[in-house]
This record gives sequence, structure tokens and C-alpha cells, in this order.
Amino acid sequence: MIISVASGKGGTGKTLVATSLALSLRDHDKVQLLDCDVEEPNANILLRLAINQSHPVYIPIPRVDEAKCTYCGKCAEVCAYNAIAVLKNKVLVFPELCHGCGACSYLCPESAITEEGREVGVVERGDSGNLELIQGRLNVGEAMAPPVIREVKKYIDPADVVIIDVSPGTSCPVVEAIKGSDFCLLVTEPTPFGLNDLTLAVEVTRELGIPYGVVINRDGVGDDKVNRYCQEQGVPVLLKIPLDRKIAILYSKGISLVEGMPRWREEFLRLFQDVKDIIAARRVAK
Ligand code: SF4
Ligand code: SF4
Repeated sequence: MIISVASGKGGTGKTLVATSLALSLRDHDKVQLLDCDVEEPNANILLRLAINQSHPVYIPIPRVDEAKCTYCGKCAEVCAYNAIAVLKNKVLVFPELCHGCGACSYLCPESAITEEGREVGVVERGDSGNLELIQGRLNVGEAMAPPVIREVKKYIDPADVVIIDVSPGTSCPVVEAIKGSDFCLLVTEPTPFGLNDLTLAVEVTRELGIPYGVVINRDGVGDDKVNRYCQEQGVPVLLKIPLDRKIAILYSKGISLVEGMPRWREEFLRLFQDVKDIIAARRVAK
């Protein structure tokens, strides 16, 4: 089972929820936590696992053999990302813009383009008992998150409970991370910003056809509009974590919620059971 933990905006407590769920389940199941928030992977600040494997992630970028090139312009024409430009007697490649889609090399009529790898990030792995962490880390200044996310997701073992910590927002890296999930937990906070970003996140998960539910973090901080939105839209609110100074202090010290306040373990196990029930009910309804 694959459960994504996403949020429309940063700082809502998404990683707190993902790590608490993983740590609660590991006494019962084999758990993989995939940190796909590759620009800022910080789940391991709370999990504190030793990283024992690391490998680079490359994307293929074009290299033009000017001896073969006729400067026909086809490669620039097919590139959707403006990553290659053809001048009168020169072809320019802009590696930072290249998505490594391979269209230019595939369609070059002179077979003048070969590909070379450009490192965009790393995938790191560590484990302890029933819990395995796989985290992607994008190189500093790099924008190509999806290839790193895809590399992280290659480690998914369908026999395990897989929890994906998704980057905040609703852009390409978010879609890349949550697609293929059985369920998506949307973490939000009860504020106008939280509601705005929650509505966008709900649209993305609906578009992808993934069942979802909401976790409200810092409950009590703002107003009742997130609750009302969820009621009106028929979105299940599966867990509320109160605004609590002790929780904030634990987080700031790098201590996970369920380790610092073990009574929350039961809440996360109940949350997991609710998720399983929703998935099962949806399968019966199909
Ligand atoms: S498509 Fe091939 S031959 Fe044409 S400009 Fe590009 S590299 Fe040169
Ligand atoms: S590999 Fe794709 S993105 Fe990169 S230059 Fe070629 S067509 Fe453009």
C-alpha cells in the first residue's frame, strides 16, 4: 500500500505526519518512507537513520557532433523546453533547461546527437529494523526534481507499507511523487492560506483519481473554514493535531511526535486503519 503525504503549502507539518505514521507502523509492518521532497529532504532529521547507501542521479543531455550536423534546426524545433538552439553554424545546448526527454537525439535526421549524463542529485538509503528510508536530494541550484523522484520511487517494494513525503505545492514534482499512490493524506492548517492551498491540493488528487483525506495540524490556530470546506466537499478529516507548544518544541529538537509523546502512536494507527477502510470501501464500490 502506498500512502502519499502532501500539502498545498510548506510548513504545515507534512513531514511530522509522514514520520509519525512510519514510526507508529514499524512495530506491526515493514515500512518504507520515501522522502520525495527532494529540494529539502528532512524526514531523516526526525527518523535519525544512518545512511549506508548513496548513488548519483543523472539525466541524459544531448551532445552534438558538429561534423555530422547540417544545422537543419529540427532539434530546436522539437525541444519543448528551449534547451537547444541552432545558429547558422553552431548548436547551443543549455543543460540546465534540458529535461533529458531524448526527443532531439531521436529525431535528428543526421544522427548527430548522442547523449551524456548530467548529475542532478543523489538517492540515499538507510534502514533500521522494519523501517527503511529512501531519500532523494537535488543538487544545489538544480531544478530537475522529477528525475530524482522517479529514481527514489524505483525502490518501492509493493509488499511493504510505503509512505511518501511529497514536496509542498501542486507542481510537477508533486504530481510525480503522488501518482500511483493508493491514498493521499493532505496536511493543512486551519488558516485562510491553509484553506486556499488545501483546495488546490484537493483538485490535484481528484484529477489523479487518488482517494484522499485531510489531516489538520495546529488545530485551534485559526478559524473553522477548513472544517466547513471539508464538510461541504465530503472530504474526510482523519486526524487533528492541536496547536501545542510541546509538539513544536519536540519538532524543533528533531524529536518525532510519536517518540516525544507516545500516546500519539495509537492515533496514527487509527489513522492508518481509517485509510485502509476508505481504500477497501472504494474498491467494493467500483
Ligand atoms: S537536428 Fe541534428 S542535424 Fe539538425 S541541427 Fe539539430 S543536431 Fe544538427
Ligand atoms: S533532450 Fe529533450 S529537453 Fe533536452 S534538449 Fe533534447 S529535446 Fe530538449
